[in-house]
Amino acid sequence: MSLNAHPGLPEFEYIKFENIDDASQFLANHSGDARPLMGGTDIFVRMRDGAWSDKYLVDVKSLSGMNEIANNPTGGLFIGAAANMNRVIAFQAVKENYPILAEAANSCASYQLRTRATIVGNICNASPAGDTIGACILLGGILNVHGINGTRQEPLSKFFLGPGKSKLKAGDIVTSIQLPIPPKGMVGKYIKHGRNKVSDLAIVGITVVGWPDADLPSGLRIRLALASVAPVPLVVDQVETILSEKRIDEKTIAEAAQVAMSACNPIDDVRASARYRKQMVRNLSIKALTEVWERLKN
Ligand SMILES: Cc1cc2nc3c(=O)[nH]c(=O)nc-3n(C[C@H](O)[C@H](O)[C@H](O)COP(=O)(O)OP(=O)(O)OC[C@H]3O[C@@H](n4cnc5c(N)ncnc54)[C@H](O)[C@@H]3O)c2cc1C
Repeated sequence: MSLNAHPGLPEFEYIKFENIDDASQFLANHSGDARPLMGGTDIFVRMRDGAWSDKYLVDVKSLSGMNEIANNPTGGLFIGAAANMNRVIAFQAVKENYPILAEAANSCASYQLRTRATIVGNICNASPAGDTIGACILLGGILNVHGINGTRQEPLSKFFLGPGKSKLKAGDIVTSIQLPIPPKGMVGKYIKHGRNKVSDLAIVGITVVGWPDADLPSGLRIRLALASVAPVPLVVDQVETILSEKRIDEKTIAEAAQVAMSACNPIDDVRASARYRKQMVRNLSIKALTEVWERLKN
C-alpha cells in the first residue's frame, strides 16, 4: 500500500469581509469549517497535506489597522496582525529596542517566506516550535483579540494550551500584538538548533533575555524560554529564580541549564529524538545564558 503524504490542496472558498464584526460572525457560524487566513504559510501546507480541510478561508489581512506597526515611546510596540516578519525585522524601533524579536523572526524559514509569514500567525498556529513565540512571551506580549462578544486582551504567558491549541475561540480574530517598553539595558539571545540553516523548524529553540535589576541578590534578572521541547512554548521560571538569587558564574549557569533540561518534556519525531533534544537544551542553554550574562557584565 502506498501512502500519499501530499494529497494536494482541496477546494475551498476564499472570503473577504469589509468589517471585522462580519468576519468574526462568519467564523463563529462556520466553526470547524472556517479559519482566519493571514500569510497562509502554515494553512496551505496543512491543507495540502490533508491535515486541515476547511471549507472557507476568511482573509483578515486587509481589515482596518491590521497592517500597522507603531512604536509609542511610553506605551511600547504595536504590531498589526498582518505585518509580515520582514517588515517587523526592518522596523527601526524593533532593531533598537526589541532586537531579540528581530533575531528570532530572522531565524524563521527564508527571506521569501518571511514576506508572507506573520508573527501573529506564528503565535496563533500555537506550534511549540514557533520561533518567535519565546521572544514574544519573554517581552511580555499581549494579544488584542476581536470576538463575537467584542474585544479582549490575551497575555501570551497564559495563551498556549497544547500543540495547536490556544485560548482562541470560534469567531476570534487577533488584530495585533502589543509589547511593553523593555526594561532598561535588556539584552537577548535566540539559539535555534535545526537540521539545516534555513527553512526548517527548530529541533530545539532557546530564547534568553536579561537586564540589570539592582533589587536582586545577583543584580541581574535573566529569563529563559524553550521551543520544540514540550507540548507548549515553555518558560522555565526556575532558571530566573536561580539566576536572581545566586551569584552568577559558570557553576550557577550550569545549574540553571540543568534545571531547564529537567523542565522540558520533548517527543521523538522526524527531526530528533527526545533524548537528543534534552541534551541540547542543557548545552545550548549554557551557551545562550553565558552570552547574555557576559554582555550584561560588560
Ligand atoms: C517552508 C516553510 C518553512 C517554515 N519555517 C518555519 C520556521 O523556521 N520557524 C517557524 O516558527 N515557522 C516556520 N514555518 C511555519 C510558518 O511560516 C509560521 O508559523 C508563520 O509565522 C505563520 O504565519 P502566517 O501569517 O503564514 O499564518 P497562517 O498560515 O495564515 O495562519 C496560521 C494559523 O493561525 C491562524 N491565524 C492566523 N492569523 C490569525 C489571526 N489574526 N487571528 C486568529 N487566528 C489567526 C490561522 O487561522 C491558522 O490556524 C514554515 C513554513 C513553511 C511553509
